[in-house]
Amino acid sequence: MSIFSGLDEIVETDYPLAKRTWYGLGGPADYLIRPQTVEQLKEVVQRCSENKIPIYVMGFGSNLLISDDGLRAAVIKLEAGQFAQTQFNLSEAGLTAWAGVELSRVVLTCVQKGLSGLEALTGIPGSVGGAIKMNAGGNFGDIGAAVETVTLMDAQGSVFEKSKPELVFDYRRTNITAKFILNAQLKLNAADPEQIMRTVKEIWIYKKNNQPLNTKNSGCIFK
Ligand SMILES: Cc1cc2nc3c(=O)[nH]c(=O)nc-3n(C[C@H](O)[C@H](O)[C@H](O)COP(=O)(O)OP(=O)(O)OC[C@H]3O[C@@H](n4cnc5c(N)ncnc54)[C@H](O)[C@@H]3O)c2cc1C
Repeated sequence: MSIFSGLDEIVETDYPLAKRTWYGLGGPADYLIRPQTVEQLKEVVQRCSENKIPIYVMGFGSNLLISDDGLRAAVIKLEAGQFAQTQFNLSEAGLTAWAGVELSRVVLTCVQKGLSGLEALTGIPGSVGGAIKMNAGGNFGDIGAAVETVTLMDAQGSVFEKSKPELVFDYRRTNITAKFILNAQLKLNAADPEQIMRTVKEIWIYKKNNQPLNTKNSGCIFK
């Protein structure tokens, strides 16, 4: 019986990671796995643990440099199914964003719904999971300012939450050490959608003047 039998739909073998990184770099991973649910992710983690397969987590691959030798490991991408959801609680200006949602989509949906707080993420490529891990942001703020609670899974498959003030965000880092960020609860502010859109446009213009956004580039190399 193969290591991931019964999970064939979400497991690809000998997968060229260059196809999934911003820079188009990276050799093959032994396994690329895209679970659709938290339960499936638990199952994958358990099988990796039983078979001593190292795990790497990948978001949209916009902050990753992977060797041409690839990875003798399972690379797990939380991008589909449950991990692609956003759940709004408009009466409390709250949003639960799952790890695989694209940042630009969250920013624009918040504009439409009249929720302010994520404009600083305009123009940053990535997923919610990657943005939280890196505390993505810039001159106008960072995602950490809006995060109240994160739901995490450790390398043994246990799911738990971490909230502020225990949860700390700093310059391009957090104190999250758990293997997986599953989702984040964000606290935003109700505001006029037109005003939020104006701010998004201003930040976009600022970025365009500082980075060639219409070409493949590396943003600013800051670490
Ligand atoms: C053109 C360009 C412009 C950029 N501009 C900015 C900018 O203005 N500000 C800024 O902060 N960054 C910027 N970046 C860097 C990058 O976009 C951010 O770091 C982004 O948050 C990475 O998200 P990702 O989903 O691509 O993560 P990845 O690159 O896939 O992963 C980054 C890290 O997060 C971890 N990770 C990803 N998802 C999860 C998860 N669900 N659970 C646990 N760990 C996870 C990975 O293991 C890895 O350690 C830029 C990059 C480019 C290429």
